[in-house]
Amino acid sequence: MRNWAIGAALLTAALGTGPAAAVAENRLPSPESAIGFTPCADFKLATYEQIAAYFRKLDAATDRMQVLDIGSTAEGRRQILALISSEQNLANLSRYKHIARSLALNRDASGRPLTDALARQMARDGKAIMWVDFGLHSTEVAGAQAAPWMAWKAVTEETQEMREIRDKVIFVLVPNLNPDGTTLVADWYMKHVGTPWEMNVPALYHKYAGHDNNRDWFMFTQPESRNIAKQLYEEYFPQVVYNQHQAAPFPARIFVPPFEDPSNFNIPPLVIRGVNTVGDAITRRLDQEGKVGAISRVQFDAWWNGGMRTAPYFHNMVGILTETAHPSPTPATYDPARFPLRFPNGESTLEPSTYYPSPYMGGRWTMRDSCEYMLTASMSVLEIGAKRREEWLYDIYQMARDAMKAGANETYIIPTEQWDPGAAVRMVNVLRAGAVEIERATAPFMAGGKLYAAGSYVIHGAQPYLPYVRDLLNPQTYPDRRLYPDGPPEPPYDISGWTLSMQMGVRVDKIKEAVAAPTEKVLTASMPPGGVSGAAKVAYAIDPRTNEAFVAVNRLLKAGDVVQRTTEHVDAAGTHWPAGTFLVTPGQGTHARVEQVARALGLKVAAFDTALPAETLHVKPPRVGVYKAWEPNADEGWTRWVLEQYEFPYTSLLDADIRAGSLRAKFDVILLPDARHGQMVNGFAPGTMPPEYVGGMGANGVGQLLQFVADGGTLVAQDSATELPMTAMHLPVRNAVAGIRSTEFYIPGTLLRLTVDTTNPVAWGMPQEVAAFFTHSPVFEVARRERDAQKPDADAGPAVNIVASYPGSDVLMSGWLLGERYLHRRAAVLEARVNKGRVVLLGFRAQHRAQPHATFKLLFNSIYLSSSEAGVRLQAAGFARACGPPRASTAAHVAAGL
Ligand SMILES: [Zn+2]
Repeated sequence: MRNWAIGAALLTAALGTGPAAAVAENRLPSPESAIGFTPCADFKLATYEQIAAYFRKLDAATDRMQVLDIGSTAEGRRQILALISSEQNLANLSRYKHIARSLALNRDASGRPLTDALARQMARDGKAIMWVDFGLHSTEVAGAQAAPWMAWKAVTEETQEMREIRDKVIFVLVPNLNPDGTTLVADWYMKHVGTPWEMNVPALYHKYAGHDNNRDWFMFTQPESRNIAKQLYEEYFPQVVYNQHQAAPFPARIFVPPFEDPSNFNIPPLVIRGVNTVGDAITRRLDQEGKVGAISRVQFDAWWNGGMRTAPYFHNMVGILTETAHPSPTPATYDPARFPLRFPNGESTLEPSTYYPSPYMGGRWTMRDSCEYMLTASMSVLEIGAKRREEWLYDIYQMARDAMKAGANETYIIPTEQWDPGAAVRMVNVLRAGAVEIERATAPFMAGGKLYAAGSYVIHGAQPYLPYVRDLLNPQTYPDRRLYPDGPPEPPYDISGWTLSMQMGVRVDKIKEAVAAPTEKVLTASMPPGGVSGAAKVAYAIDPRTNEAFVAVNRLLKAGDVVQRTTEHVDAAGTHWPAGTFLVTPGQGTHARVEQVARALGLKVAAFDTALPAETLHVKPPRVGVYKAWEPNADEGWTRWVLEQYEFPYTSLLDADIRAGSLRAKFDVILLPDARHGQMVNGFAPGTMPPEYVGGMGANGVGQLLQFVADGGTLVAQDSATELPMTAMHLPVRNAVAGIRSTEFYIPGTLLRLTVDTTNPVAWGMPQEVAAFFTHSPVFEVARRERDAQKPDADAGPAVNIVASYPGSDVLMSGWLLGERYLHRRAAVLEARVNKGRVVLLGFRAQHRAQPHATFKLLFNSIYLSSSEAGVRLQAAGFARACGPPRASTAAHVAAGL
């Protein structure tokens, strides 16, 4: 009770004179004037619309604030950002933006690097740009509710400190990074408040990414990530980026940096120092205000790239994350007698320590307490922004300058010769979204003793964001860290390896020299020129090596075209057509459609007047079902996202749909996104959710899936979901690493080398070696089938084919791996015939966070295979493999009679 009394008193202190007084004094609208209640109050959540309405209302009433529309969300809401500073600063905004950009990029108005003297002068003249956003994980609710208070406070408060902040800082305030989820959770809570499920929303709080919306910050797949990246790296170049969360290690009240080790080796030291400085400023201010329970150096590390506060590190920005306790508007009383004794780092929860000097001793806690901690932490960022204004500005210049020097003899070249040229273009654009400077060669050039063609992309190391380039285009070498010597591994906060070029299957040559090539600047890369070699009499051939081919085929299937795939590779007169080459039969309007997709997608389509001498499969438009449990599952969202990007139509299948049966009549293929067997079978437990969301697919649902396969359907299980078919269908396969201790075998999100059998239809169009994203995944061991010599054709159970496996050595590509020997020569992808149907086991994340483009084909091929039938043989009389040479090596128009 004592703590609650203190808390209540401090609330008034933090919020100054209180809402009513502020209205009277400043004649400015208070948060409740727009929202209808006091945000942060018990049992209430404002929607994003209500919060944005307040920001607009406040903006209209003051010249100290500008609200900007920064783009659309996944569900079509508009996303806003607010700038708060003195009237004079906002009147001169373009000048201060110019200074911040020049220093961050080490570039003057004419594009030349700054001198130290000029940079010093600019730092003196500039304003610190401090970014504070109020979260993106929508069930971490206090952030969005605190945002209106922060705006109101920063605009209206007339203390000496706040005047100085407005004078020296341009405060970039983002009320929330995930508007859709904020409204989703607010609506659910207000409808169900008082029930055990008031905070259990049975849906992803971002349409596709869910919680992984904080895992999208180098891939930029989602509109919200792109909107924000543009503000960070093209508009404001903040020196400090503060991103708020609400998952404090219990019973601490807030996690604040310094972070736990390891630190990523590519992060500039001044970033890490800056993080520690800001963290100390936050924790000191919290204790000055009597806000106890701040903890540091536990759980959250600075290894990973791809988070909202981590990707900015590689852009020389100081990224801060805090995790405030109690993500709920419903108050609670915490009893210290029931606290765990230790934090995950081994320190006591009840006794003071260096990084937890004021232990929280329990009591009543409300969302207003959480909001106040957030306001104090945000104030600290603004305070230290003002106090160290000139240093922040000079530091970011110094890091840019030093990066350009460090990268002077380092160049990355993306050659035109690529297995999947579309993936290379996509990767260039992903890097561009992260503000990497990229050029395209306008003529052939020599580098590292090799000749590169015009059209190759060139990334010079001498650029301000060299740390980002290095981190995404080189393998991660994760330090072997244990909880104690020879003990269990200390888990990384997120994952250990993510090298983008490996994930996307793009060849990048690293040259250890400065490369002088005739180039032009790339703003957005476009697909290589595509087209059709002529009007075909027999077939249009589309190479399956590029993922864009699948978009093309989906468009053609939708238009009613007849598509087949070759079941073996064909070397048709000098041109290599891999197994799985798509052959489109000419029909009404086909030529125009093929030409259109070829141009749009950069495909070189060959027109054949005689058939390729190969057996084919006829691909019918596949009817795709994607299993969707009520329990939010980001892997399910990413599966939908990838299918939509490649234009596969699909239907989401709820538990009730699975249980209803007759699945084969409706679907050719059912995808099971990553989930444990028990999760899928049991779902939400009774009493934890309204009855309509309780229970999973149940034994009946599993039975229906078995029936679906027995009836000829294809079941594709992703990562841990492979457990369900392995168990239920008695496949002669076991997980060889189940139950092995983490001291022996541990792979926490790592890229592994995979050897692919490209003759298997599941792997058509893939190279023989790719990177697989493995995270606590299964490793398959296939039992050898003993054939009965007397009855060689007798049914010996499901026939299991190994599609991809781990090699006998050198498996690690990027990240951390313990116990490589458990992987050697074991299977990663299996295809099993079961009765009339088929099961595909993908033993890793083939579409993880929509990043590993190199393994998307495993999913796409499985889908096409589900609706394929033996095709007609297109063999035409007179065609021979030794027929005359094609006119172009990649686009052969093979004329009749050759
Ligand atoms: Zn969070």
